[in-house]
Amino acid sequence: MSKRAHNFCAGPAALPTAVLQRAQAEMLDWQGRGLSVMEMSHRSDEYVAIAEKAEQDLRDLLGVPSDYKVLFLQGGASQQFAEIPLNLLPEDGVADYIETGIWSKKAIEEGRRYGNVNVAASAKGYDYFAIPGQNEWQLSKDAAYVHYASNETIGGLQFDWVPEVDDTPLVVDMSSDILSREIDVSRFGLIYAGAQKNIGPSGLVVAIVREDLLGRARSACPTMLNYKVAADNGSMYNTPATYSWYLSGLVFEWLKEQGGVAAMEQRNKAKKDLLYKAIDGSDFYSNPIQSSARSWMNVPFRLADEKLDKAFLEGAEARGLLNLKGHRSVGGMRASIYNATGLDAVEALVAYMAEFEKERG
Ligand SMILES: *Cc1c(COP(=O)(O)O)cnc(C)c1O
Repeated sequence: MSKRAHNFCAGPAALPTAVLQRAQAEMLDWQGRGLSVMEMSHRSDEYVAIAEKAEQDLRDLLGVPSDYKVLFLQGGASQQFAEIPLNLLPEDGVADYIETGIWSKKAIEEGRRYGNVNVAASAKGYDYFAIPGQNEWQLSKDAAYVHYASNETIGGLQFDWVPEVDDTPLVVDMSSDILSREIDVSRFGLIYAGAQKNIGPSGLVVAIVREDLLGRARSACPTMLNYKVAADNGSMYNTPATYSWYLSGLVFEWLKEQGGVAAMEQRNKAKKDLLYKAIDGSDFYSNPIQSSARSWMNVPFRLADEKLDKAFLEGAEARGLLNLKGHRSVGGMRASIYNATGLDAVEALVAYMAEFEKERG
């Protein structure tokens, strides 16, 4: 078998090797039918079974209650930034947004194109190193929804709590931490996640929406962006991203084999503990995020001397530790350690960090 590097890419991110091998084995001839999943009609019995199994496995993994629809949509998470207000924000209404970094800011900017957006809290006052506690939030009285991003993929800032918003629908961008730890879906009105971090190939976006929120779309909402249309058509109003959906289904099966979300949570905790311990135990590496708000999935870190960044990245690449360069807006390094990136990868990274510090620090 060809060698697989340790891939720390923020997205599109590593996929489990076992999943890719299965896709490879099924590529030309899916289960003896003599064709690839990519070549199947989305209306065929075979494909509908694949799609339904993926949905059921995701429901099992997250414990999705029966009064929620699971939608397999397109356009990535960014399209949801428009889709959410078009579906849930009345023209004369107001929506509350929590700003904790670049992704939630993008959602705010797009939301403003469609109506009144109240930024109820911002991490700006903490230089995006901490999340404002709910006692600091200025929520509106009759907000159509409250939107936040549970994990800021670029800044490495993650909620370790779920906001309390009474009867207001809670809308969450879980693109980079869905399926990484256990959640109570019933706390949310809408959960959405671009697939390419913790689910599958890019382009696909999964939305889990409480049924009472369907049917509220504005008349100007494009048919393709209307949640109710998607729900009424089993996410097949048009041709869905069939192969991405299938591959995501393979990831869900793999997750179940691994012991489900609870097992992933334990593994992810061990991974992030090891990496933050290495950072905190050194004067050469640093991460500025308040400990309770540190992301389990995306760990940005800096070298004491940024002139060494290039050498660090070159040495990493030579050892098969790929995609550690931080986002261009932040600089430094970032290790994304989603479900498919194992403890062995983090161990290899930590060993390299110690070696580099000894030689160059
Ligand atoms: C990656 C990401 C997005 C954007 O996803 P696209 O599929 O590229 O649109 C949005 N929000 C978060 C939290 C992300 O990590």
